Amino acid sequence: MSVQQVNVFICKINRATEPIENMVLKIGGSPVFSEKPDWPICKQCGQNMDFLAQIPLSDPIPFSKTYQMAYIFMCPGSFDQRGWLQCETWDPVSGANKVILQNYTGTTFIPETVSEYPDYFVTLTRSKEPLIDTADYKIEDDLHDIVSDKTKIGGVPLWLQTNETPKCPVCNGAMIFVAQLDAELDGSLPAQFTNKDLEYYNFLHFGGDDGIGYVFLCKRECTSEGITFQWQCT
Ligand SMILES: [Zn+2]
Ligand SMILES: [Zn+2]
Repeated sequence: MSVQQVNVFICKINRATEPIENMVLKIGGSPVFSEKPDWPICKQCGQNMDFLAQIPLSDPIPFSKTYQMAYIFMCPGSFDQRGWLQCETWDPVSGANKVILQNYTGTTFIPETVSEYPDYFVTLTRSKEPLIDTADYKIEDDLHDIVSDKTKIGGVPLWLQTNETPKCPVCNGAMIFVAQLDAELDGSLPAQFTNKDLEYYNFLHFGGDDGIGYVFLCKRECTSEGITFQWQCT
């Protein structure tokens, strides 16, 4: 039996020399909105969330008929005396992360607050992945190995733990997989780098630099809240 193939765009990520101020796929820097939203605040600790990435939902894969851009935010985390993360940033419904959906309006709005992290630009390579459940241990290795563990748009989620495909938090309906964020950015570090650069390099705090974040969109696109972010680590 042949396995169905799905389109995937594997991301090559490099530090940008200047802020990216267009509504394109990017990681870090400041979000480029079409209209000013309220900056997301962690429901568990009250801190401002960090902006992680913005992902087009119409191109190269037309995920949405209603929304053109998804903006991923996550709480930097509050930690107890033992240094344990208190905010459940991995959980799609904890309120410790947030995805904002917007449409193109022809104008852009870039928040004035200076982002803590530099911009990374992304170039895409088109490929195919088998439509498999990567958490299913019965799947053959050679099929499983085709599924990328890197940052990508489309394809299938490379689960590090169990298959945690969520239900829509609004309508409880099915969700489609949109993108995966690898905690370890692939781009090269600047020639002369500082400890701060190293921290930037691993600013996607998904339980360590082997973590992976996952974005899902409500299949029905029920409301602008019908989108989720979550992460797993080994
Ligand atoms: Zn928090
Ligand atoms: Zn929904």
